[in-house]
Amino acid sequence: MKTDALLELRDVSRSFIVRNGLFAPKKQLQAVRGVSLKLMPGDVLALVGESGCGKTTLAKMLLDTLPPSSGQILRGGSAANARNRRERTRQLQAVFQDPYSSLNPRKTIGNIVSLPLRVHQQGNPAEIRATVDRIMNLVGLPPRFYNSYPNQLSGGQRQRVAIARALVLRPEIIICDEPTSALDVSVQSQILNLLIDLRAELGLSYLFISHDLAVVEHLASKVAVMYLGRIVESGTARTIFDNPRHPYTRALLASVLTPDPGKGVPDIQLGATFPNPLAPPSGCAFHPRCPLARPECRIEAPPNVVDETGAVECHLYKEPIL
Ligand code: SF4
Repeated sequence: MKTDALLELRDVSRSFIVRNGLFAPKKQLQAVRGVSLKLMPGDVLALVGESGCGKTTLAKMLLDTLPPSSGQILRGGSAANARNRRERTRQLQAVFQDPYSSLNPRKTIGNIVSLPLRVHQQGNPAEIRATVDRIMNLVGLPPRFYNSYPNQLSGGQRQRVAIARALVLRPEIIICDEPTSALDVSVQSQILNLLIDLRAELGLSYLFISHDLAVVEHLASKVAVMYLGRIVESGTARTIFDNPRHPYTRALLASVLTPDPGKGVPDIQLGATFPNPLAPPSGCAFHPRCPLARPECRIEAPPNVVDETGAVECHLYKEPIL
């Protein structure tokens, strides 16, 4: 089926076989279950959810470091394995949470940023140097840092280096995996604003992985909410923030929004801890924590209802709401 999406996941799942101890029986851990998503040109698609919900496993599959157990990952309309790995790497780059551990401490900043260009043989030494200078300037790194080492830079500066390295091959898509959560609050907004400016200037699309809805509201155009390996709600950022439908989305929003009488999102408290992914609850996986759970929620998984405002998986919305 033809698609205009830069990146598309079709019914993607990933499971692992794990055991709790040498002689314990093997169990299957279903980290990602039937995820379908599209990243269109210019999108900032935020993937949100608590730790352990499957966000990182999904990112690894997108980065080709982990194959899906089933389903398809399409890039530019083609199955991910139909293009050569080098071109796929060029098209999709990543910025990770901890800039310090993602940068080689023994290499200079110039060396780190230029490495992708050298690996992909993008120009002679003078051209590579000119490209690195231009990208460093673009992300706000002074030229004097070219010969510095990561430990000589602040956390925010190191994250700018990581962004420069991700941009140097002129990718179409950047996966931002919690890119500000290891930074001081005062630096977070600088990095977020830089990402917003770069998107406009370079025509980038982002898949932005975060547990922090305050950050997501700052820059996302679309939001997908993940719970125990499933996308339980998705839609435009405005729809998700103004009219969240899934009780889990409401709970996430309630945990970050300041009450605003007459306008705020209902303060739905979660009634239990995040379930063990090795023993997911029956029916709707959210039912042990859901304040609106009904008897059928324990037995039957809710359908995925798609309408003009997005998609939601909850028995409260059995029919499209048009
Ligand atoms: Fe809550 Fe039931 Fe909806 Fe699940 S299906 S979110 S348990 S109301």
